[in-house]
Amino acid sequence: MRDETKCLHSGYTPENGGPRVMPIVQSTTYVFDSTEHIGDLFNLPTAHMYSRFSNPTVECVEKKIADLEGGVGAMCTSSGQAASLLSILNLCNSGDSFISTSTIYGGTVNLFAVTLKRFGIECIFVDADADEAEIEAAFKPNTRAVFGETLANPALAVLDIEKFARIAHKHQVPLIIDNTFATPILCKPIQYGADIVVHSTSKYMDGHALQIGGVIVDSGNFDWSNGKFPEFTEPDESYHGVVYTREFGNMAYIIKARMQLMRDLGCYPAANSAFLLNLGLETLPIRMKRYCENALLVAKFFQACDQIESVRYSALEGDPYHELAQKYLPDGSCGVISIVMKGGRDAAVRFMDGLKLASNEVHVADIRTCVLHPASATHRQLTDEQLVAAGVNPGLIRFSVGLENVEDIIEDIRQSLEQM
Ligand SMILES: *Cc1c(COP(=O)(O)O)cnc(C)c1O
Repeated sequence: MRDETKCLHSGYTPENGGPRVMPIVQSTTYVFDSTEHIGDLFNLPTAHMYSRFSNPTVECVEKKIADLEGGVGAMCTSSGQAASLLSILNLCNSGDSFISTSTIYGGTVNLFAVTLKRFGIECIFVDADADEAEIEAAFKPNTRAVFGETLANPALAVLDIEKFARIAHKHQVPLIIDNTFATPILCKPIQYGADIVVHSTSKYMDGHALQIGGVIVDSGNFDWSNGKFPEFTEPDESYHGVVYTREFGNMAYIIKARMQLMRDLGCYPAANSAFLLNLGLETLPIRMKRYCENALLVAKFFQACDQIESVRYSALEGDPYHELAQKYLPDGSCGVISIVMKGGRDAAVRFMDGLKLASNEVHVADIRTCVLHPASATHRQLTDEQLVAAGVNPGLIRFSVGLENVEDIIEDIRQSLEQM
């Protein structure tokens, strides 16, 4: 099946006479015939037991997203932050380190640099555009993973995924890619060597600003028995000695994440949320196509405006990431544009406050056009140095083009610029 078809049919197949639409299984628990059956599940969870870590409705969505990304399995989480957190905790213990590109979402920078540090896990930040030798110099004997974003929020840098996969694999660790902005419709990182893919489904996947969520997808391609990951190859005493690679083969990573981390941390989405996420996924391909079309027109309009110093949108010719975008995002660069106003922070704020159609909100990749000033919002906690490393100028505006008629979006921009 192709993407449009998968979005409608993957993950749920109705039984004869069953409901056409994936039902919401609103139940915390599941009933079994015997004590022995339940006992067996505690040795090897082969069925839903408790909705803190699995649920039939959520499972349908997990299967759909795994299928879209080309992975062997997926696990939904209650937020994108939880997906990023668990993707790392499944590999790193206190005393370990991992490498991340510095151009990533501000919330992830804080999670990696501040909160994981308190857990004793060190994140080593690297410049995504540095040459391979420089990036390799960041590896230590305790480095367990490499992390990056396909299309960085909000810098809009396109990651050279193949380069990072090559480097990670040379050092026998997996590459984790946050594919939130691209979605599997515009880029499938596993095809370029990523081992694990994470998403904030709160953005384009949900698409309607209805509910927060995340997901982790396992490619099934990484060899966990290379000696660096004993937790995958040695008995897990918390599960009666299960050995993940032996019992679950190429699904070891995603099953371990559920059996250990979701069981203990419980950041699982509600069935209702998964149902709404599924509705968003059904129309994802047509929405992504229109976002890309609208955003390219808006980006070209910005480019022709005197009051704007620079426009960043990798589908634009002349953008520093245009070449990488042609390789990794051939069908478009999503709906998010970043612009820097002439006149810096003040001008940015005046322009944003003058917009009437576009909403000023802490969100991005919404169905409605929205704007955000990262330096005073999502990236507020970063130092000036971290701001520069994350590609955030104080006058930068993240302009998230929605699905309104593009002429209306452009008229709104024009009237605000004229007011200034
Ligand atoms: C929003 C976002 C996150 C965090 O996701 P939440 O669902 O808000 O927790 C992570 N990565 C990227 C790229 C994001 O845009």
